[in-house]
Amino acid sequence: MNDTSGHPTPVAACPKTMAYGPCGGVRPDGGCEVDPAFPCPFVTSPLRSWAGARRPGPPVAAATPTVVTDLHVQPRSTGSLQAVTATLRGSCDAVLVGDHGGARNDFPPSHMALLLRDAGVGAWVTLSCRDRNRVALAAELAALADVGVVGVHCVTGDWQGLAGASGERKVFDLECLYLIDQARSAGLLVSVAGTPAAPPVELRPRRLAEKVAAGAQVCFVNHCGGPGPVRRYIEAAHEAGAAVPFIACVAVTGDRGSLTSLARLPGIVLDQAAEREAQSDASGTVDVAVAAAARMLDVEGVAGVNLSGAASSASYGASAAIMAAVGARLLGRSVA
Ligand code: SF4
Repeated sequence: MNDTSGHPTPVAACPKTMAYGPCGGVRPDGGCEVDPAFPCPFVTSPLRSWAGARRPGPPVAAATPTVVTDLHVQPRSTGSLQAVTATLRGSCDAVLVGDHGGARNDFPPSHMALLLRDAGVGAWVTLSCRDRNRVALAAELAALADVGVVGVHCVTGDWQGLAGASGERKVFDLECLYLIDQARSAGLLVSVAGTPAAPPVELRPRRLAEKVAAGAQVCFVNHCGGPGPVRRYIEAAHEAGAAVPFIACVAVTGDRGSLTSLARLPGIVLDQAAEREAQSDASGTVDVAVAAAARMLDVEGVAGVNLSGAASSASYGASAAIMAAVGARLLGRSVA
């Protein structure tokens, strides 16, 4: 059934009230990210095609960065951001700013973009539909365009469990495909997440193609087990019509804490290299991550890598130092 604008009606039983599911949080057995006992209804349904305006081709407005590094800073701390960016500057083409909810709720994405612009670091900013209605999302997009970011990473957002505990009402007014459409209309370079390892695995390449139809220009390939699964996903995505540059996630997990934090994210499967890194010292961590990234960059269709994870759970400074060393090695640069 469709609504009056031609879009399919949201699935009321989905906690995120998605119309174009499934989200990337489906559990390995097909259970819902939010309630494991509830089977995600999108897993057994035909994939819904994007019913809005379809964008011709994937016009990428800027050269795709080779190295995009996850930004790990103390939430809502300008001082922490300044210290970390001083370490990362020059070691990557952009930093990927997460949009965390719950206990790690940070400054708004547009404010992070402003701080990063002032710090002289390219910002690729995640904007999640979680906890923002369409009015708030439109304001964030306008602000990101005004500040000038490398790209905006449009996601529906994972479920964060503070509802009830803190009394706030959960909001999933829009979902990823609508946000992509609006971000393109705002003139931004738009990336999305590909989640090859999340059920229904066979539908994930087509799900990406629908995001591309809505306007996505770059795909960040989430952790799915290493270069082999990434290559198979890209081939299937091309067959489905998603001809975009791919930036593949590479885990940088220098200790057990950073490995555990990354592994608990929904819908991902880590490369075995991440396990080796977690048992290394800092220099071994850098070597393992550089080697894993180099293998990923050899995969046809992979235009860049996203250095993903906290690198070290010791401190934000230790994490940034490892990330900077990995990025600099990959770019053939020295970092001050
Ligand atoms: S897994 Fe995601 S898409 Fe599926 S029902 Fe749960 S929240 Fe909705």
